Order: sequence, then C-alpha cells, then structure tokens
Amino acid sequence: MIPKNIKQDFPIFKSMAARHRPFIYFDSVATSQRPRSVIDAETNWYETTNANIHRGVYALAEEATVAYERVRSQVAEFLNASDARSIVFTKGTTEGINLITQAWARPNLKRGDVILVTEMEHHANIVPWQQLAKEKSLILRYWPIDAAGKLVLTNLTKTLAGVKLLSLTHVSNVLGTINPIENIIRAAQKIGVVVVVDAAQSIAHLPIDIKKLKPDFLVFSGHKMYGPTGIGVAYVAPEHWDELQPYQTGGDMISRVDWQHSDFKPMPGLLEAGTPPLAQVAGLGAAVAYLQKLGWPALIRHEKDLTAYAYKKLSQIPGLKIYGPSPSERGGVIAFTITGLHAHDLASWLDERGFCVRAGHHCAQPLHQKLNVPATARIGLSVYNSKIEVDALASALTEIIKQWPTFTTR
Ligand code: PMP
Repeated sequence: MIPKNIKQDFPIFKSMAARHRPFIYFDSVATSQRPRSVIDAETNWYETTNANIHRGVYALAEEATVAYERVRSQVAEFLNASDARSIVFTKGTTEGINLITQAWARPNLKRGDVILVTEMEHHANIVPWQQLAKEKSLILRYWPIDAAGKLVLTNLTKTLAGVKLLSLTHVSNVLGTINPIENIIRAAQKIGVVVVVDAAQSIAHLPIDIKKLKPDFLVFSGHKMYGPTGIGVAYVAPEHWDELQPYQTGGDMISRVDWQHSDFKPMPGLLEAGTPPLAQVAGLGAAVAYLQKLGWPALIRHEKDLTAYAYKKLSQIPGLKIYGPSPSERGGVIAFTITGLHAHDLASWLDERGFCVRAGHHCAQPLHQKLNVPATARIGLSVYNSKIEVDALASALTEIIKQWPTFTTR
C-alpha cells in the first residue's frame, strides 16, 4: 500500500501549505515533485562527498568516484540490465535521444534508410530524427494511431518492413497509451530493426526489465521519477558498443590525447564527456531507492486504481472529452477538452483554485494535429495524488462549465 501520509515525504506540500496556497499537483507528467531523501542526497553530496570523479588520487576524489559508479550499478540493477557499462548518464530524455541520433544513428544509417517513429511521440522523439534525416537523406516515417489513440498493430510486418530504426514511446505523455513494447521489440528485432524506447513516462510508473524487453536503446529523465533535474539515463545494449562514435568530446572521455589524434575510453566513458552532474547522480540514486521502497506492486495498484477512478469521474462531466484509450490500457495521464472552453482558460481558472494542470500541445504538436484540436488540458496522476483530489477537480470542472457563459460575456 502507498502510505496515506505520503505527501509528508515531499517538502513542497508543506511549504505550499505554509504559504497558504491551495496546492493540488496534477502535473507530474511534466515533472514530478521530489521527496526529502532526494533533496538530502544532493545536499549530502556537496556536504560530504564533493570532488571531481575519475581524476583525483586523493581519498575524497576516490570516494566520489566510487559513489558515482555505485549509482550506475544501482540504476543497472533497477532496470535489470546485465552490465552497468550500458548505463550512460545524460541530462535527460531529450539529451538521451540526441545522443543516440549522434552516437549511433549518424554513423550507422545511410542515405535512404528508414526511421520509424509513432504519431504519438513527444517532440524530443521527432525533431532529432527529422534533423538527422535532413542531414543524411534518411526517410522519416510515422506509425499511425487509431481513433482510440493506440498504435495500429494489425499487419505489424508491413509497418516494420524496410525500417532500419524504430524509436517509440513506452507511454504517451498525452494519450496515456501504454504501448506493448515487448511484442513490438520482438517483432522489430526479428527483422533486424534497431529499437529505441522513450521511457520518460513509464520509468516511475511501470517496471522496466531490460533482460525481458531487450531494447537496443532506452532513455529516461530523472526529474520524472522523483529525481533531480539535469540528470537522465541512456541505456545502450552491449551489442552496439562497437558501433558508437563519441557524442561529445573533451575531458574524461579520452584514454590518450596527442597533438593531432585522440583515443577514447570504452563505454560508458566514451559517451560521458566532461564533468558530469555529480550531485544529480547522487539524487538519482536516492530516487531509485525511493521507488524501490514504495515497491512496484503498491505503486501500480495505487496508480491504476486512481486512473480508473479519475477517468470515470471526468467522463461523467458533460461536454468533457478524454483523449486516448480506456483506463485498462493507459497510464495515469489524462488529456481532455471541454466544449467551448480553451484549454489555457481552463488551466488558468483551475490555477486560481490551486490546481496545477497543464494546458497546450504538451510538446506533441503533430499528435494534436492528428487529434484535430489545438490544445488539451492534461492531468498526470502520481503516488502522491488521491481520490479526494480527483473529486475536487471533478467538482471544479463541473463548476466552471456552469459559470463559463458569465465569464465569456464579461
Ligand atoms: N518524451 C516524453 C514521452 C516526455 O513526456 C518528455 C517530457 N515531457 C520527454 C520525452 C522529454 O523529457 P525531458 O524534457 O526530461 O528531456
């Protein structure tokens, strides 16, 4: 069970209460809040461990290196990856995808090769591929979604035919759709397609088992899993280590530098140039520990139950339309519109009542084009959200619908 007093783990709730501000946080899809243990781990790094890693021979520098590498092993264990050298620290999902485009796709794809992404991708999983496609004359194709907001899975063989690289999200940050990535990865790899998984929206909500999924690459951000900003992970399968080129070059990623030539470190050093975000890595370790302490069974039960509850409550509101599949096929992301009301007006009105709800295209403009709507409002449900909060939101939405005509005539 998720503890009833879980909000006590997250200092932001106390500080907002101290400011006498109503605060119902429904924006964990954009970024989650941080528990005290994560904040303490970052502070503790500076107070007890801070020195640059992989360089100094003095004791504190060695301690810092051990602590940094320990988090790498901890993340590998969390993902059930067999080799910690597959874990590359990045600054987030966006950097992770950019890293894969530059370090792997750029040297390994050639003119005319097909990259497949889905229609439900975040811009972070579209724009880097567009840029690479332009530069290298690659073909960028889109895997369509159906009216329910799910990937069209009929005729998978045809969808994947001729594709060299498939990059897809595990969970949509708008529709909430959970893609059946295990089956997709199996079907793709059977015909030699390299698969990149964007796990930004699943990492804190569903267990990721690398040994089971066997993705070629998988990326996520720390800040969406109760960890710090400025830190993320790119998992790179060992089969691809020999095919990589450095993403950035400079300090720490080299084994030897001469006047005209340099030799590089093997993985993961090859892809970690310069001083990494040390305190943030310590914070990421604490975030992983926090998720492990809550435990997947409790976490999944809480979020599934809450998602089904919120879906039901919101769908009972007249004029409210939810995008994406039924609760059993989605994560805790619910994007919606209300007839006659712009999503931004809705979010501003809710903000005045203490609800943090996101409005806009959520970095998925092509998807909104497909949905034929300029903007949606979106809630994200997380460990610290409750049915009471969902009830309060549903009441507020019902109220705004009643009040709105008076607002518009002002
Ligand atoms: N992919 C998905 C599915 C996302 O939801 C996000 C963040 N909203 C990103 C990528 C980008 O993550 P970041 O901004 O942390 O790099």
